[in-house]
Amino acid sequence: MFVVVLIGTHAQYLEHDSGTFHPESPSRITAVLEGVRRAGLEDQLRFFTPTEADPGSLEAVHAQEYLINLQRFCVMGGGAIDSDTTVSDQSFRAAVLAAGAGLDAIKKLQAGEADSAFLVVRPPGHHATSSTAMGFCLINNVAVSVAHLVSQGNKVAVIDFDAHHGNGTQDVFYQSDKVLYVSTHQHPLYPGTGRVQELGAEDGFGYTVNLPVPEGSSGETVRAALEIVAQPVIELFSPDWIVISAGFDGHYKDPLTNLGLTAKDFYEMTSWATSFVRKGHTLVFLEGGYDLDALRDSTTATLGALAGELILPKEDEVRGKVSHETVESLAESRKRALGDRDPYLGTKH
Ligand SMILES: [Zn+2]
Repeated sequence: MFVVVLIGTHAQYLEHDSGTFHPESPSRITAVLEGVRRAGLEDQLRFFTPTEADPGSLEAVHAQEYLINLQRFCVMGGGAIDSDTTVSDQSFRAAVLAAGAGLDAIKKLQAGEADSAFLVVRPPGHHATSSTAMGFCLINNVAVSVAHLVSQGNKVAVIDFDAHHGNGTQDVFYQSDKVLYVSTHQHPLYPGTGRVQELGAEDGFGYTVNLPVPEGSSGETVRAALEIVAQPVIELFSPDWIVISAGFDGHYKDPLTNLGLTAKDFYEMTSWATSFVRKGHTLVFLEGGYDLDALRDSTTATLGALAGELILPKEDEVRGKVSHETVESLAESRKRALGDRDPYLGTKH
């Protein structure tokens, strides 16, 4: 079957200057686009230039005052927001265009133009909360798209396989039963959140699935945790859309983290995640990933998964073993944390 994948990217993403020697650099976009090119899927790719997200969609996630202050801070020349997050005069526009990429992709997918979308954006988004920029993130790109889909009556599962916990995304939807947030991440690691016991609250109790794994964990372990602990929850939730926070910093070459994933693991996780929804209902957002070769190779593999083809770099040989102990301990911890509630979505009987 002929599969079409949208690629959304914008020259403005290169203009967000996060500071000299900062790992979240414009060259990341170049590396990801090289990975797109190397996938060799020209006939199946449809490139588009994103437009800015509209204020209403941004304000569905972020406080208006936060957006105004962030814009003002950038336009006046920028500077350090915290020890990790620095902005330039072009950063706000880049962030608004990064959020807009998802909204444009939703329109195109709903018009039947393609089967999925891969959004090659920066700054990344999953650490940004409704009122705080942090961890290199300004506007929560994933959350803006998810909130828009929910406003249309959709149920959305977010699969966040970035090596860091997406505290911002979790926070925005913590009390919602319309959004299932699933995250695998190294723990302990920045930002420190993402324990199994963070399960959601009120209507959203049970709708957050955190799978923290220790440093050194292999892709096999991460994938087994997703399949054994998260999959039954996703199946019961039965999402209309899958939105992937595709951070490639779990790759074994990444300088900021200590996981053992390979490009093939990103292929496997993306194939797995897209299997829960119909064609035309998957968005993939670039989040982190700081080794340029790893970014390129992981992108090629992820795009292959969206196009239904296994395309891997030659040197993708490193494989670890599954740690059954880690997976069993995650399953057991979640069960214990849910207590007498339903083991899947936390509903009380
Ligand atoms: Zn990350």
